[in-house]
Amino acid sequence: MNIALIAHDKKKNDLVQFVTAYQNIFSKHTLFATGTTGHRISEATGLPITRFQSGPLGGDQEIGAMIAKNQMDAVFFFRDPLTAQPHEPDVTALVRLCDVYSIPLATNMGTAELLIRGMELGMLDWRNVIKENGEVNEG
Ligand code: PGA
Repeated sequence: MNIALIAHDKKKNDLVQFVTAYQNIFSKHTLFATGTTGHRISEATGLPITRFQSGPLGGDQEIGAMIAKNQMDAVFFFRDPLTAQPHEPDVTALVRLCDVYSIPLATNMGTAELLIRGMELGMLDWRNVIKENGEVNEG
């Protein structure tokens, strides 16, 4: 499965710790990330990660484009709810696209635990069916 990893600055340590803790599961998947988040995670874990632009420079939108093309299966997006982001419109757009295409999105550690454990149990296998059928949600 293709997994996107994004964390705002004050949440980066949390996401690095999370991916490190579940490294054995994440290593079975294909990972994508915004620039700085991807750098931090690959440095800590050694996992191969395709890195896009930094979030404020368009990285969120690049991940959004993959969602729109039915190429992303899950998104771990540790948002900082207490700090204004210069690219807030991009953040909102990414969350919106996850909803448009029913892509599982974890925006905090609590949901992230459920999502990664669920993936390990095969609870996201329906994504393979959708991809095989080339289905896209047209609303
Ligand atoms: P970054 O982008 O991983 O490049 O910091 C994340 C964000 O702030 O949206």
